[in-house]
Amino acid sequence: MRLNDTHDPRRSSWVDSANDPDSDFRIQNLPYGVFSVGAERHVGVAIGDQILDLTVLEDAGLLTPGGADRAFDQGTLNPFMALPQATWSQTRATIATLLDVATPDLRDNADLRRRALVRQSGAQLHLPIHIRSFTDFYASKDHATNVGSMFRDPDKALLPNWLHMPVGYNGRASTVVVSGTDIHRPLGQLKAPEDAMPRLAPSAKLDMELELGAIVGTPNQMGQPVTTAQAFDMIFGYVLLNDWSARDIQVWEYQPLGPFQSKAFGTTISPWIVTREALEPFRTLPPKRVNPLLPYLAEDAPNAYDIHLTADLAPPGQPATTITRTNARHLYYTPAQQLAHHALSGCAMCTGDLLGSGTISGPSRDNSGSLLELTWNGRDPLTVAGGTRTFVQDGDTLNLQGHCDGPYHLGFGACTGTLLPAPIIEDWA
Ligand code: CA
Repeated sequence: MRLNDTHDPRRSSWVDSANDPDSDFRIQNLPYGVFSVGAERHVGVAIGDQILDLTVLEDAGLLTPGGADRAFDQGTLNPFMALPQATWSQTRATIATLLDVATPDLRDNADLRRRALVRQSGAQLHLPIHIRSFTDFYASKDHATNVGSMFRDPDKALLPNWLHMPVGYNGRASTVVVSGTDIHRPLGQLKAPEDAMPRLAPSAKLDMELELGAIVGTPNQMGQPVTTAQAFDMIFGYVLLNDWSARDIQVWEYQPLGPFQSKAFGTTISPWIVTREALEPFRTLPPKRVNPLLPYLAEDAPNAYDIHLTADLAPPGQPATTITRTNARHLYYTPAQQLAHHALSGCAMCTGDLLGSGTISGPSRDNSGSLLELTWNGRDPLTVAGGTRTFVQDGDTLNLQGHCDGPYHLGFGACTGTLLPAPIIEDWA
């Protein structure tokens, strides 16, 4: 592992709330986000219950990752992510030093501290990056097996390609939204097998998908594949991702070209990008390979992550119920394998590309990352506060959470969204 001073679990901060052992944002985490308290969007790092304003620190000359060029003045992390990987590391080390309990520069400068430290509860969080493209993979073997068993044949649940490549499709970047954004239930064409004709209706099988999102920092050149080791390093960081899905629209539309409208109406990501470097102590091996993989997918390092993941569902006016507990280590294909496969054809991967892992499910039903699996396509309703659920109902709020425990505790923060009713189109009624 490539550990350094920023991973030292003994390190503490002069920001007191960051020293709470259960804080998501201890000094070892330092995730990046974009926030505003007025009209202007600034880049910041979460520390305890505060945000360290990097736009202000860059103005003050305390942080100059781009040299003479500003990296934190665009209200998005893309300019910073486009800088060399060594600069990401140096910047993380500088921020850790500035926040360290023993460093006086900011600690003892009351004026600068007042301008550079913002309470999270008083700030609005925005999408942290300009998302160039969104690709959605299907990298959990348990999820693919469950879906294949439900809709095809339990004895041939995995299609022949699945054990040889990370299967994926190109999704919509335009409807990726930050945590806290409401999502409208989509309208679509629905047709059950027994129906003679399709009909237009709001989706009645609205689902969540609990995923890990990888954010590409370093691009490859169009026409040039990358190794899994290069791909691992190209990833700037990770977010939680809820890929809202309309199962009844999906089942009618998906052949032969894959999901389309069933996945195009909304994808929620958490606002804080937990860097690859912060996750270094939590690397682990992916599950045992069923078949040997082609050499371009081989890995000589533990490129999976041990991240505990949960999803909560809160009906309107009711407390949240945890409906699943799973772990990112269940992903059969690692994010580096997903990215290496994506670039294999020479596809240009860009700074700001978002790769969804696909629904993360584990070996048992209560480790499943979707309601489709948790309720087995609505057959077995779940008990939640105030009632039961098969799929998401209007007014329900979903919240994904993720954390790592090891040398230190690290959290991803919240990834929430509330489902609003479908739009009413009078002329179509
Ligand atoms: Ca998905």
